[in-house]
Amino acid sequence: MSAPVAIVAAMHEELSALLAQMPDEQRVRAAGRDFWVGHLHGQPVVAVLSRIGKVAAAVTATVLLERFGVRAIVFTGVAGGLAPGVNVGDVVVATQLLQHDLDASPIFPKYEVPLMGLSRFAADTAIGDALAAVAEETLRDPVALLGQEAVDEFGLRSPKVHRGLLVSGDRFVSTAAESDALRRNLPDALAVEMEGAAVAQVCHDYGVPFAAMRTISDRADDAAHGDFARFVAEVASRYSLALASAWLATLPSSSGETPAAT
Ligand code: SAH
Repeated sequence: MSAPVAIVAAMHEELSALLAQMPDEQRVRAAGRDFWVGHLHGQPVVAVLSRIGKVAAAVTATVLLERFGVRAIVFTGVAGGLAPGVNVGDVVVATQLLQHDLDASPIFPKYEVPLMGLSRFAADTAIGDALAAVAEETLRDPVALLGQEAVDEFGLRSPKVHRGLLVSGDRFVSTAAESDALRRNLPDALAVEMEGAAVAQVCHDYGVPFAAMRTISDRADDAAHGDFARFVAEVASRYSLALASAWLATLPSSSGETPAAT
């Protein structure tokens, strides 16, 4: 029996979309969260809502690794676009992740995780390649996935897939001043969110592969608080489900046993 993979969603709507495709899911309660253990596309999976922010995400990741013995963690959710050309409706697949609000200078260089000598955590290349490939394929026809109405409403003409640096911090970045500062300080950052780099650090400690894919919901500017819930429900959760399913379908098939919580 192969160890399960974890799919971590940042939003309720995404998790419910995933669970609807997991007919055999069983709920296991740990650390005040519901971990859903079952199968998706024949693969043993643990699906869970991380909640928002770095600490919540780190706790979720630790429980997935310690209690469920997952062999990889994939994080899905939404993010604010930072780099020029990273627009609403695009998908970012992380190659590296950094905590943009971590600063123990002058004792340690800005962004460096103290005593680790590291500020950028690498995402798993093989999973990232596979996610980017399925994202390219899926985004080729957004109308097929989302319907014409959603495509028109959110202006998703030709959504793109980007790969590169994803930055995380305990702030919802929703002013142009703040996103300008991030662009200045971290010119190669593609997008900003609140969990990914924390999970990347935990997975680094455990030596377990990690990947993150985020749908761009806003541009981290003064309009960032727009209609978040509708975007997540109508666009991001459908992208996440389609991409997670397509990725799982690329993995070698397992024996079909239900993964057990220990
Ligand atoms: N209004 C939303 C707020 C969610 S917080 C709600 O009520 O649910 C934002 C979530 O989306 C976090 O999980 C974060 O990872 C991501 N996110 C999207 N855009 C972001 C931005 N501009 N800055 C920081 N995080 C962002």
